[in-house]
Amino acid sequence: MLNATRDLTLPTTITGSLPRPAWYTENLGARPFRDAIADARYREQYTDAVGTHVRDQERAGLDVVTDGDARFDTDVGGMSWFQYPARRFTGLAGAEYYRAASGYGGTGKGDIIFEVMESRVMPRCVGKIGRGPLQYTVLWKLAQGMTARPVKFGTITPELIGASVGNEFYADPRELFRDLAAAMREELLDLAHAGCRVIQMEEPNIHLVGVRRQGGAAQLDVEFFVDVFNQAVKGLRDVTEVWCHTCWGNPAQQRLFATPQSYREALPYLDRLDVDVLTFECATTDGMDLEAIGKAIRDKKIAVGVVDHRNLQVERPEQVAALIKKALRVIPLERVIVSTDCGFGREGMSRRIAFYKMLAIVRGTNLVRRELGLPEAECRAADPRFALVD
Ligand SMILES: [Zn+2]
Repeated sequence: MLNATRDLTLPTTITGSLPRPAWYTENLGARPFRDAIADARYREQYTDAVGTHVRDQERAGLDVVTDGDARFDTDVGGMSWFQYPARRFTGLAGAEYYRAASGYGGTGKGDIIFEVMESRVMPRCVGKIGRGPLQYTVLWKLAQGMTARPVKFGTITPELIGASVGNEFYADPRELFRDLAAAMREELLDLAHAGCRVIQMEEPNIHLVGVRRQGGAAQLDVEFFVDVFNQAVKGLRDVTEVWCHTCWGNPAQQRLFATPQSYREALPYLDRLDVDVLTFECATTDGMDLEAIGKAIRDKKIAVGVVDHRNLQVERPEQVAALIKKALRVIPLERVIVSTDCGFGREGMSRRIAFYKMLAIVRGTNLVRRELGLPEAECRAADPRFALVD
């Protein structure tokens, strides 16, 4: 259900992650979050970091905010996005599983993606998967307690965890995926019932891998991944708003493929996901797929990425406005949301650049709102009354 964006026209948000403040030096590691926040130093740094992230988004004027994914550690290429849940589900143990580093586009030693994959140490499945101390509700409550704006809570999908861990337990790998989806669903239903107004599933195993492997040597096809995704979110939309984020990769701010990719082939499958909102990376391609998206996705809202998480050049508001207008030519106004292509990550971009990119989202959206006669968002950070010099 549209629990957060129903009455908002051209709502603005970001995907989720924000660069860590330089003073946020503590790491969570494998500890349950509730144990870590009993550690006074971690508690102070974590809560101050979330407060800073939320406040920056409010100053920018975003309508739906996030906790900046502050639970994730300072690691290589965003490993915590995979590891946070993988270290906490029961049935997964150890830290010595390496996936072949040459998985993407034939990269090898000397390529940055190789270093990312070389660093990504994951557990193996050694028993039946259970929920474990993911504690998503606690994380969300801590952030939502700091703002009246809806805090969108994002998580990697269970199928990407399943594709990243070793398996020594399930004879049929499909059972591993199904049990991960069931455990994640329990966690997400609790989060939704606690009052979280937007839950975002990050990366279905469809556009990046599923469609490409169809008809090939893959053991599991794209139909299976549509099914697993929908199992993980089954019943969730009865309680809250559910988004699915898609992009072309973000490890160490890299695209996983050498050349820009098209969503075209994946759209019929993405349309079948049981979600209210689909997000698409559009800034990097200047909206190349917007027309196809508008034709294929008929009833979900569409979050259009208007700033690039891989490029340090801050987009101009006029550039953002032009991309939004391009989207509005093929998608009805009431179904357009304005966002980033992906998260800003923790190590590759400075806080300042991420902040000005958030401002660009709101300032660009305000330009369009003005043209359409819609109310504009307050953007204190761009208010000349508070400039230190004329
Ligand atoms: Zn992404």
